Amino acid sequence: MRALFKIPRNCNHFHTQCLIKDFELRPNVLDLLEHVFIRQITGRAKILQKQLMELIDLNQQIVIAGKHERIHTKKGGQIMSSPTHDEVDDLATLEVLDEVMDSILLQRRYSKDQIYTYVGDILIAVNPFHKMELYGPQYTKMYIGAKRTAYPPHIFAVADVAYQSMVSYNADQCIVISGESGAGKTESAHLLVQQLTVLGKANNRSLQEKILLVNNLVEAFGNACTAINNNSSRFGKYLEINFTCGGTVVGAKISEYLLEKSRVIHQAIGEKNFHIFYYIYAGLAERKKLAHYKLSDSKPPKYLLNEHIRLGPDIVNNTFYKEQYDVVEQCFKVIGFTLEVHVYSTLAAILNSGDIDFSSVTSEHQTDKSNISNIAVLENAASLLCIRPDELQEALTSHCVVARGETIVRPNTVEKAMEVRDAMGKALYGRLFSWIVNRINTLLRPEIEDDNGLNIGILDIFGFENFKRNSFEQLCINIANEQIQFYFNQHIFAWEQDEYVNEEVDARVIEYEDNRPLLDLFLQKPMGMLSLLDEESRFPQATDQTLVEKFEDNLKSKNFWRPKRVDLGFGIHHYAGKVIYNTAGFLSKNRDTLPADIVLLLRSSENSLIRKLVTHPLTKTGKNARPNIFLSPSTKICLGDSGTGESTHHPRETTNMRTQTVASYFRYSLMDLLSKMVAGQPHFVRCIKPNNDRQANKFDREKVLVQLRYTGVLETAKIRRQGYSHRILYANFVNRYYMLAFPVHEEPLGSPETCAAILVKAKLENWVLGKTKVFLKYYHVEHLNLMVRQTT
Ligand code: ADP
Ligand code: MG
Repeated sequence: MRALFKIPRNCNHFHTQCLIKDFELRPNVLDLLEHVFIRQITGRAKILQKQLMELIDLNQQIVIAGKHERIHTKKGGQIMSSPTHDEVDDLATLEVLDEVMDSILLQRRYSKDQIYTYVGDILIAVNPFHKMELYGPQYTKMYIGAKRTAYPPHIFAVADVAYQSMVSYNADQCIVISGESGAGKTESAHLLVQQLTVLGKANNRSLQEKILLVNNLVEAFGNACTAINNNSSRFGKYLEINFTCGGTVVGAKISEYLLEKSRVIHQAIGEKNFHIFYYIYAGLAERKKLAHYKLSDSKPPKYLLNEHIRLGPDIVNNTFYKEQYDVVEQCFKVIGFTLEVHVYSTLAAILNSGDIDFSSVTSEHQTDKSNISNIAVLENAASLLCIRPDELQEALTSHCVVARGETIVRPNTVEKAMEVRDAMGKALYGRLFSWIVNRINTLLRPEIEDDNGLNIGILDIFGFENFKRNSFEQLCINIANEQIQFYFNQHIFAWEQDEYVNEEVDARVIEYEDNRPLLDLFLQKPMGMLSLLDEESRFPQATDQTLVEKFEDNLKSKNFWRPKRVDLGFGIHHYAGKVIYNTAGFLSKNRDTLPADIVLLLRSSENSLIRKLVTHPLTKTGKNARPNIFLSPSTKICLGDSGTGESTHHPRETTNMRTQTVASYFRYSLMDLLSKMVAGQPHFVRCIKPNNDRQANKFDREKVLVQLRYTGVLETAKIRRQGYSHRILYANFVNRYYMLAFPVHEEPLGSPETCAAILVKAKLENWVLGKTKVFLKYYHVEHLNLMVRQTT
């Protein structure tokens, strides 16, 4: 026997339902349930909740269930009749909505490897942390054009809905994947691309292969091992797949956002540099080519040796790295890249320059001068960069300034010289990354420009981060997440509810957590955090201390505070939790300047790739080249010395280079990203991380609950159940669906009456007619689209 036990709603805040299989055989369960009732009456709901959950842990036979018929039974509880299936794969269909229950249901599904669950038209994906047999060709086939309820929830179903909507409505689509770092966003993005290229009948097999392969290449350069994720994306990626209006894949385009360049020169405890460095190091060693790139197999470069982990000999012997090197080579080949030697030289140059050491020279007249203490390394770096070593030495250890019309060469302190060296490494890497993405885009661009073409964008942006120590990079990442959450809220809640009012449709208002105040705190002009940071970055005398004080004096928000006993610290209460940031390095990271001496020197390089990387702008070729702001330099060139208060003109060049800070560039990128997202119809995938240990079969319910809470899953379920996620103008609705109720040659009026006739004919209920639009539930649209596909 199976039964569903429901605790009545009127017992404090705690109401829930659970299904007990064979419950007569389980006296412990019954005992506890009786106990629950007694406690409940005394009003100790919280304890009960915990006990019930413990019980569910103990007893895997308990299943949480959804809609069921009720049968009255003893002790005020209700025992319910056996449901037709013992699971619910859409949280929006649950009779009782409760986030604790949601998490229990997700756990229950997770324990059976059902990692996907719907909340209406939104997909929740819980990271399985192990390989799943869910993505083979049989699954690919199964989900093509399938009714959503026909098969279990799946990422391929999201690809299908996006694709079908694109073709049906002749409109661009956008799939937004969110979730914290390590939650499975990048994997989900891959799976979407995989399915979309199949749906798009990429009859050009090589194009399909290329689109999938470039992912590997971009990840080799843009991903790294972090404390949280071995393959963490250190940049935001928006991948657009281009289709003809008939739905055939014809090309793709990648936009990259905010690569975390600082990783090139420094990695936090337990973290590593970008993958590509290790791949080439191991791969070149295997091919006995290290010496050619001035690298030693016994002494790996410093940039690869995090002070805190001894990787040394492990790198050259690592078979995974060697295999990945082969993959990278393969990628270069397939996408028709011919400059890999130049790419390797540039990477090797960055590694070599990282090993340049400086010592301080103090003489009577000149204090704090720096000298290079290992000239051989300098020569190696210079030879890889195809520049003269003496000129590199000069550019690192001194800088030119113009004071009162006179050019003066000033020595760099050791500290300053190291800064210049590191700035060069970061800038070269950032630009190399942009250049590679640019090349890929050229190779994947549709052959024929098609004004009627359509596209599906997939946004895989770095997830919310909260480390022990959080710097400027984390701030930017978290602001981006804040913005995406805002967009989600707007789309799911605000716009929907506005429409009810405008169309005079009676629907219940759902309360949700509006993070607008946080966005204002960061982005408002002129008093938002980023504006304040920019302002402070313009003062040569500013320090990270004056910056944090400026924040404190000007930011009046309950979401901002200064923690006691944390020097340079400030706290932000983000939508996803509280984060303490440290402003150390904020100003220099925001200014992100590469001295003109270095730029001019690199422009004289004999290596054409190096020259390209430091020349503005990175030009695009091809007649249908579209402007892409992400190709703008990721490091701006400083023609002057902001540190000394001297003139900002470089003696050897006068350029009106407007200095752009990282913060203002970031704000611009964010707006650009948003404009892309708003242009298409969005679909949301919410990735959930079930535990912090990257372990399979481990479900930390508290952790999941927190994620469900901050992403507003419960509210989403409510609005999906009670609300109308599709609002379609009468004429558009009739145009699309009239054939379900009228002969094909007829042209019925785009009136509410015609709409009603179609909906009645389709045997649908619970729809509403507004002033100008039909209001439909998400499952109505699915049903209608399926009917259309069956009739045509
Ligand atoms: P994110 O991009 O959100 O930081 P990733 O997509 O890189 O996270 O996922 C982190 C790790 O989790 C992956 O390297 C993989 O091991 C595992 N993972 C994520 N999604 C899946 C999945 N669908 N199947 C199997 N493993 C997965
Ligand atoms: Mg990722």
